[in-house]
Amino acid sequence: MGYSNKYQWILVPENLPTVIRNCPKCNEKMHFINSEKFRVNANKNNLDIWLIFQCEKCKSTWNMTIYDRINSFYIKKEEYEKFLANDRNLVKQYAFNLSLYTKIKAEVTLNNINYKLISEKLDAIYINEDELVIEMNCKYPMELRIDKLLCDKLLLSRSKIKSLHKSGLIFINDNKNCLTTKVKDGLELHVLKVTENGKLLKAII
Ligand SMILES: [Zn+2]
Repeated sequence: MGYSNKYQWILVPENLPTVIRNCPKCNEKMHFINSEKFRVNANKNNLDIWLIFQCEKCKSTWNMTIYDRINSFYIKKEEYEKFLANDRNLVKQYAFNLSLYTKIKAEVTLNNINYKLISEKLDAIYINEDELVIEMNCKYPMELRIDKLLCDKLLLSRSKIKSLHKSGLIFINDNKNCLTTKVKDGLELHVLKVTENGKLLKAII
């Protein structure tokens, strides 16, 4: 029986990316926190929509352009209402849309984001009876290395993880098999079911 060998780790960000920019009031580079609020300005048929950020220290605001003079025809009514209501999911969707920041040359950072890990056992079809597989499920871009995730979530030291990896007892199923790889959606971590991995297996199951 080789079932139930597969787990899924769902990584849910608990906060939003911040923007690093010069604050005119503090007169230095500061982190600007996402206020989770939009600002909508309607002018005839044109709409301007911003996402508002605030300096972490003095609360000065910075408005990040989402739409600049877009004809309201292009915005679905349903989405427009979500902008007005500061819909949390919509905020999250835009907050993690990294191309928005690139477009306006804003410096965004994902380094301060904490992730909640939800572990789920999958009814996966038999893969390999001697291995336990963890598939990463993350719908948002992240800056988290796989070794850091394992240290944080399994409470093992980085050197322990490194030595297990070096002996081939754990590996990442991609062409690099590198522990410093950033966690991404679909990435698979394989853990051999051997006594040396006992502590690790116990922490996962
Ligand atoms: Zn400031």
